[in-house]
Order: sequence, then C-alpha cells, then structure tokens
Amino acid sequence: MEKSAQHYDLLIIGGGMIGASLACALANQPLRVAVIEAVSFRSSSQPSYDDRSIALAYGARKIFEGMGLWQQVKEIATPIKKIHISDRGHFGATRMDAAREGYPALGYVVENRDLGQLFAKQLSSFSNIELICPAQLKSFTINANNAEVVIERDGEIVTLTTKLIVGADGGHSMVRQLAGIRHTSDDYQQNAVIANVTPGKDHQHIAYERFTDSGPLALLPMSDGRCSLVWTVDRDKVDEVMAWRDETFLTRLQQRFGMRLGPLQKVGRRSAYPLALVRADEHIRPRLALIGNAAHVLHPIAGQGFNLGMRDVAALAQVIVESKDNDIGALSVLNQYGQWRKRDQDCIAGLTDGLVRIFSNQITPLVIARNSGLLAMDIIPPVKRVLMRQTMGLAGKLPKLARGISLQ
Ligand SMILES: Cc1cc2nc3c(=O)[nH]c(=O)nc-3n(C[C@H](O)[C@H](O)[C@H](O)COP(=O)(O)OP(=O)(O)OC[C@H]3O[C@@H](n4cnc5c(N)ncnc54)[C@H](O)[C@@H]3O)c2cc1C
Repeated sequence: MEKSAQHYDLLIIGGGMIGASLACALANQPLRVAVIEAVSFRSSSQPSYDDRSIALAYGARKIFEGMGLWQQVKEIATPIKKIHISDRGHFGATRMDAAREGYPALGYVVENRDLGQLFAKQLSSFSNIELICPAQLKSFTINANNAEVVIERDGEIVTLTTKLIVGADGGHSMVRQLAGIRHTSDDYQQNAVIANVTPGKDHQHIAYERFTDSGPLALLPMSDGRCSLVWTVDRDKVDEVMAWRDETFLTRLQQRFGMRLGPLQKVGRRSAYPLALVRADEHIRPRLALIGNAAHVLHPIAGQGFNLGMRDVAALAQVIVESKDNDIGALSVLNQYGQWRKRDQDCIAGLTDGLVRIFSNQITPLVIARNSGLLAMDIIPPVKRVLMRQTMGLAGKLPKLARGISLQ
C-alpha cells in the first residue's frame, strides 16, 4: 500500500539565515512547520553560515527581541556605537553616533557561523518545527488545496504536502526557478573580498565605511579587537587580490584605508563573492512566497541584505499567524505580505544600487556632489536622521516583531 505523504502547514525551503529566522518567528504557534536545508549547519561548505560576519541593524535587534531570541544573539554580537563614512582623497565625511541619537547601538556585528550554531540549537528545541537536513528540494506541484513537494533525503525521494511553500533558498532560488518566476539580474562586475583583520589600535566599536577609487571598503568592529573587512574590488582584479601574500594584502589595504585604526597587523582567511542586484519579478503566487535573497539580492555596500530579509520574515510571520485559522496559502493572505513589503524593498534596493553607482564613479561633478552630500548629511541632522531610520530598519509601517512585540 502506498504511504500517505506527510503534511505540514508550512514548508520553508532553505534553512539559511532567513529561512531559519522565519521558522524561529513561528515557534510555538499551532502550525506544523518544516525547514528543508541542503547543507548541514556545521559543514564548512554551508553557504549561509560561512566565514562572513553580518552587520545587524538596530531594527533586526528589535525583530530578534520580538522572537524572544535577542538575549542569545546579544551574547555573540559586538555593538556598533559609531559609524564613520568617508570618501578617500576628498573632503566629504559623515559620522553617526548611537548615544547622540538615543540608541544603545546603531547595529551589531555577528559572525555568520555563530548565528548558524544558534539557529541549529533553536530549531531543534521547538516541538512544532522540524529541521529536515541535509535534504534538497527536487520539484513541486501547486494544487487548489495544497502543494506537493518532492525532496531528496539520504538518497531517498520523499513527497510532502503543505498549504504554503516559502522559498528562502537564496539568490539562485530553485523555488523561484521551478515556479517560473522571472528575475532581473544586474551584474556589478565587482567582487566583495572578506576577511577578519586585526588592527593596531582599539576599534572602539566604530564601523568605518570608506569609498575609494577602487570601490568601497568597510571595517566593522568584532570580538577580540578584530575587524570584519568587506572590500569591494573590480572583477578583473579579484584573482590578483586573492593571490596576494598576507603582507601585500595588508599593505594595500592600509594604503586604501589610512591609519585610523593604526597599523593593520594580521589578516585571516579571505573569501570572495561576486556582486549583483537580483530582483524577482513576483514574490507571491498561490501557495508560494519568496523571502530574503530568493526575492532580492543586494550589494553589501550598506549592509542591508539580511536586514531587509528580516523585515520580510517579520511581515510574513505576522500575516501567517493572523491567518492561521484560514488557508495560509491563499493568494488573498499572501497578497497582504506582498503589498506590505514592496515599498521597503524598492526603497532599499534603490538606495543600495544608487550608492554603488554614485561612489563607483570618478567623474568630477559627481565626486563633488557626493562629497557635498556627505558633508550636508553631517551638518544637517534631520537629513541624517531620515537616512538613519531607513537604514536601521525603523521606517514605514513596521510589523509587530520589528517593534519588538511577540506574535504569541
Ligand atoms: C560579502 C557580503 C557581506 C554581507 N554583509 C551583510 C551585512 O553586513 N548586513 C546585511 O544585512 N546583509 C549582508 N549581506 C547579505 C546577506 O548575507 C544575505 O542577505 C543573507 O545571507 C540572505 O540569507 P538567505 O537565507 O535569504 O539566503 P542564503 O544565505 O543564500 O541561504 C540560502 C539557504 O538555502 C539553502 N538551499 C539552497 N537551495 C536549496 C535547495 N534546493 N534545497 C534545500 N536548501 C537549499 C542553502 O544551502 C542555504 O543554506 C552580505 C552579503 C555578502 C555577499
């Protein structure tokens, strides 16, 4: 006799930072949730929990608070108390100060691997959540009353049914592909080179964003006096930069960054990521929603990708919880999520893309304009405040979790 397929209210495809966050947001709800993740959380090839560190905006802290997870995240987070933005070789600079604006911090730096360990522990502790890992999505069929999802687990093909498939499977989303949802992709012809760097001076919890003629670079404060480096380099230079000996790398970086953190002393393992702006044309279909990188991949210039994805999580979780007595996969329910998120997604994608283009350009009038902009922002507090609220994830109609309110 044929075994009947296991049924879930919700199947999250991808247990990376965004998929795992959505599952945690739905913990202890009367909903049966499974997370299908292809790569073990501890594996060195895990693509979400890798060597990167993430700058969490203050808004993401509020979401973790709402989820009841902030105390655990706080233990692995380094606060950013000030941000210093400058344009190398030009007059413009701007500074942001958490204390002056009345926040405990402007954001927090967390190592992705630490976040992965935290999520793995959390996901195994909720009775309504099942982590199916390693397991890969193979195909799905959307029907009027449910969706049938085929996965491969331990070499075995298994069929599951669900009311709602959430695609949280990253920038190359198979969910997006299988659904036939088109996307636009704008390759920046740049790569981000990341590494941990030990400076000679105490970072004093200051994050530095420096625009240089070869692309922007950020040094973010981390634990043990280290800084997390994100250095954007042109695609045709990346092999050379990756091949430099550590001493050469530090010397070149020092030339670009200057002496604010004293002599740069040590650099850890480097990794490089190709950069593109990717946007899905649709984020919802009947019984299907896309969140995080599956819906939008951004340039890391302003540290917005994960933070934007967390606001997707907060909105989708609220819509699902408020509709849990009805059909959570119905288009009328998912439309609420789609419409709610559009403005923020358009705004942050536009802001990030605009910054990349303005600061990658050396045409004199543009250089003067951007430096005037940085300077104006520094001396006109209301202008700075508007930008800060947007990038801290505190603008617009915020979901409950983003206001630190639990969904229980
Ligand atoms: C260099 C760099 C620095 C960044 N810094 C910041 C920052 O400071 N702040 C910030 O907000 N954002 C930052 N970002 C962006 C951030 O990393 C992403 O927005 C975030 O990782 C998106 O998470 P995700 O879970 O949506 O996707 P991913 O991290 O790509 O995770 C997708 C998951 O889905 C799994 N998966 C894929 N396909 C399948 C399948 N078929 N079946 C099952 N599982 C599958 C994968 O194994 C993976 O675990 C940065 C990005 C880069 C490249």
